[in-house]
Parts: sequence; C-alpha cells; structure tokens
Amino acid sequence: MPELNWKHHTLIQSLLSRGPLIAEEFHKIFEGITGRNPGVNEQLFNDYLLNINKELSFVQFELRACRNQYDGKVYYGVVNNVADEQAKLGTKYSVPQIAFYKGIIEAIVQDVAGQGSISNIDALNIKLEHQVPSGSQSQSQPGSQFPDAPAALRNFSMSQKEKTLEELVRDGWLSSTPDGNLGLGIRSFLDLRSWFRHNEIPACEVCNEAGVKAESCPNEGCAVRIHKYCLIKKFCQRKVEKVCPGCRSPWPYSVTKAEVVDHDEDKLRGPTQQSQPSSEPSQRKKRRSNQSQPLESGTGASQQTRLRRSARLR
Ligand SMILES: [Zn+2]
Ligand SMILES: [Zn+2]
Repeated sequence: MPELNWKHHTLIQSLLSRGPLIAEEFHKIFEGITGRNPGVNEQLFNDYLLNINKELSFVQFELRACRNQYDGKVYYGVVNNVADEQAKLGTKYSVPQIAFYKGIIEAIVQDVAGQGSISNIDALNIKLEHQVPSGSQSQSQPGSQFPDAPAALRNFSMSQKEKTLEELVRDGWLSSTPDGNLGLGIRSFLDLRSWFRHNEIPACEVCNEAGVKAESCPNEGCAVRIHKYCLIKKFCQRKVEKVCPGCRSPWPYSVTKAEVVDHDEDKLRGPTQQSQPSSEPSQRKKRRSNQSQPLESGTGASQQTRLRRSARLR
C-alpha cells in the first residue's frame, strides 16, 4: 500500500473542499505544495495522482481529469465510484430533486444533434412521474426515507423545479451553456463516465469519451461524432486528411486562431480520459439501446433496486 504524506492529503483536500478545479488552478496548488511545476515534472505529477488513486480506491473514490465538453477545458475532481446516485448527489438533494436531475441528464445526452443541451422550458416540462427513485420499492430498504416517493414526484411544483435548477447549476451538476440553455455541469462529466457507456451515448471517434457536446459527421447517414477540441487536434496536423474517420466523407471545418492556442495550452495530464479505452467504439455506436439504465447502475445492492423505465432513447 503506498504511503501518502501531507502533500498528497493536501491535494485530496483541495479537491474535496473546493472541487472540481480547473487544471490551471490544480497545477498551481500542486506547485505550491511540492515546489515543482507539473508541466515540467510530468512524471512526478502523474506519480502523485497514481498513489493518491491507489489509496482512494479502498474507499471507492477516484481522482479524475476530464474535459468540460462545452469549452474543452480540463478539470480535476474526486468522484465517488459507488453506484448509487443518491450517494453521488449527497444528502443535500431530495428524492424528487434527484429524479428531476436524472430526467434532465437523460434529455441532454439523448439529443441526436449532439448539442448537449436543452432549453430551460424543456427542462421544466420534464415529467417526474416516470422517474422511479431507486430504493422506493426495494424490499431491502424497508425503512426507506421516502415511502411516498411517487406522490412526492407528482407534487413537485414548477417553483421547486426552478429552485432545483439553480442549485444544480450552482453545485456544478448542470451548467448554463453559452447559448443560454442548460447543459451538463463539470461534476456530471466527471461522474457519469460509466453511465454514458452503459447507455451507449455515441463516443467521440478520437478520444472515445462520450460525445455529449460534439460535432456530427456531415454525412447524414454516418453516426460518427467528434468533440470540437478533438476535431481541432486531429485536423491541425498537416498531413491529416480532413475527412470523417468512419465514412471518409469530406469534413469541412473552420477553426479560429484562439481555439488553436487554447488547445495547445490545455494538454490533458494525469488520469486522462484515454485511460479507459473501451473496445470497438464504432460498433457500439451503431447499436442503439432502447432501454436506459439508472445513473451509474452497477453492482450489489443497487442492482436489486434497479427499476425498469420505458425506453427514452430516440
Ligand atoms: Zn473527443
Ligand atoms: Zn462519417
């Protein structure tokens, strides 16, 4: 078992108390603690994260890096790997609030255009009656905190929804997108990686992460999606043909100078998205599940409490 010292603990603490942190800020904290610049001492930085993760894995936590898909910036955060959305959102949110969050997430990721957002109005109109809170009908939890959850869902008012939206945005589970809509927050990007996989959200052809906010192949019959920042990275290489890696159709794209600079400064370090390559991404994309799963459905007890919901993927 690796020995963690106060430096590791301070890094963990900074993410837990102020978490998720934009890479720049996390790197600054690292430099303040260790006296070393993570850009120059990449190996040292990665070793720190590796040792932290070995230790955190005992309590089912993980330090992760991921990109905010709306602006391509890298963030670090500590996520809870327990497969239970109640554990994830913490005790702060009530059952109807969590059901509302799940409904919004589903609507956002199922957008076929890959915009990764929905309007506020659409979010407020999401019906909670179809969202079954985990645990509410479980024999294994007789003392459920919310025996009347379905009624609580039915009675969840418009103003409660509005207030919940504000809270979810403030806490980083959702975000306001530049075009004034609602998108995933950085906490959701960090946290929902395996849920994206379970639900077969089309993956980006370049980095293999879920393409929640991504560009679609110009060929309508082709399902390839690529994040804007991955497209820039790929097509900026001189010798690379500007064609879809799937169907070879020409892929016209334009990139501003600012976007190129942005990308160069923003190298993803540490436990990256590429750390969990999944097999056969293009095959997965072709299949479309007609059954969505609960958030982070996984193992053990939560498996028993998993409840079927009707098909949402369109
Ligand atoms: Zn990508
Ligand atoms: Zn294509």
